[in-house]
Amino acid sequence: MRYVLAVHGGAGTILPGQQDEARYHAGLREALAAGEAVLRAGGSAVQAVVASVVALEDCPLFNAGHGAVLTSAGTHELDAGVMDGLGLCAGAVAGVRHVRNPVRAAHALLAEGRCVLLGAEAADRFAAAVGLATVPNHYFTTPHRLAQLRALQAAAPTATALDHADDDERMRRAPLHAASDDSARFGTVGAVALDAHGNLAAATSTGGMSNKRPGRIGDTPLVGAGVYANNATCAVSATGTGEHFIRACVGHDIHARIAHGGASLASAAHAVVHQSLPALGGSGGVIALARDGSLAMPFNVCGMYHGWVRSGEPPGTAIFP
Ligand code: ASP
Repeated sequence: MRYVLAVHGGAGTILPGQQDEARYHAGLREALAAGEAVLRAGGSAVQAVVASVVALEDCPLFNAGHGAVLTSAGTHELDAGVMDGLGLCAGAVAGVRHVRNPVRAAHALLAEGRCVLLGAEAADRFAAAVGLATVPNHYFTTPHRLAQLRALQAAAPTATALDHADDDERMRRAPLHAASDDSARFGTVGAVALDAHGNLAAATSTGGMSNKRPGRIGDTPLVGAGVYANNATCAVSATGTGEHFIRACVGHDIHARIAHGGASLASAAHAVVHQSLPALGGSGGVIALARDGSLAMPFNVCGMYHGWVRSGEPPGTAIFP
């Protein structure tokens, strides 16, 4: 049985020795193990990416589910999307506050097939109605996120910041393409998979940007921007400055360069991440998986938490190029 799975836990100014790196590697390995268990048992790529993203949502290190960043109002509004490369079916939720694992709500919408994207209270009601676990909004809060919001609001009340946004001297010196009011790390999570039947899938989940305007929706739940899968070409999950990823249609652009331009996965992903996005001022990265099982995981910032596993091989995790 042949399968491939990759995960990410965000990208940005992650410098060697700055983080407790071992904990991030362990979190990525757990997410890989959860998804690989599905694939090894003959499960679908969609089921595998959901399993991996649930593990990342439950890990407080990453900006999704428990451990998500806060809005300017001190609340959590979470976005998630899932896409099946077989039949181009998708489900996504935006601005949810109570479903414990937003990616499960996105998956339930995909399975139901009535609509692709459901917002806010309606999405939380849908999640509860289909029997998903719900939690009070403060379940998502960690002391680290509260401190991050307070520091940001004290420094610049209207600035929004991406996850892992510590404003130290090393970050200011780091080579970034970020807009000036964006701090420079992103903790969104995602997964892409190719199952034994040759089907591709992608899933992405986030708390968005720290101190974001309530109601703001990023690229994560938008098909063709932060999440995309098509059995004809590739599966993509993105992390970065969401507004730029929306405007660049990142996931769909990588697909289109392969489908219509005959590009390889590596060159398509490289062109979008290192040319199209920086041209708009966007920073971040993607994990992309082609139908032939090849992987591309480019990022235009210092580091990206990422991991991969192929059938019959040991898993790998990395933060730096
Ligand atoms: N792309 C996400 C957003 O803009 C943020 C991230 O990747 O951390 O909501």
